[in-house]
Amino acid sequence: MIITNPKRVRRLQAARRSPYLPMLTFDIQTLCKKIAKAHFPDLRLPVFVSFVEDETLACVVKETDRADIFIHVLMNDPSTPRQVFHHVLTHELIHLIVPYETINGKEVSHTPTFWLHETRLVPERSVSWTWIWRSFGRCLRRDYKNERMCVTKKWKSYANSTRPSWGACKRVQPSDTGGACTL
Ligand SMILES: [Zn+2]
Repeated sequence: MIITNPKRVRRLQAARRSPYLPMLTFDIQTLCKKIAKAHFPDLRLPVFVSFVEDETLACVVKETDRADIFIHVLMNDPSTPRQVFHHVLTHELIHLIVPYETINGKEVSHTPTFWLHETRLVPERSVSWTWIWRSFGRCLRRDYKNERMCVTKKWKSYANSTRPSWGACKRVQPSDTGGACTL
């Protein structure tokens, strides 16, 4: 989700100044740049990625001269598949180009246009969600009202639990993923 609440923005900007060191086997900054270059040519802002301890699994903040994608530190692990990061980063980048719309009197960020983009750019998102639910399901809470995925306070108990492989999640039927989810 894209964060516009000034208090939340300030908190994330503060977290950005002391982010967690990435523990991945690849450079997530390079991956983000690659996705942005390939699929978001009109995005003129540099986009930075930080792992932080936050109330959501992932979010993005847009400023006049930069954008920041914040990913919960729960995902900062070498066993998190690159495909899951591809999904999360692409989702947040779409937020930077697809504006909010008022639908039935309510401001909606995950609009039909948004989902069209995500379906096209992340064909394996249901596999990604299977991986996310199997890995962190016990400390995630869907916040339907605010269209976001919250990480509960007990996340530390699950930070070191075993995570499935991408291949194992690929073998799961899409109906097992728990339906459409939002980041
Ligand atoms: Zn979102």
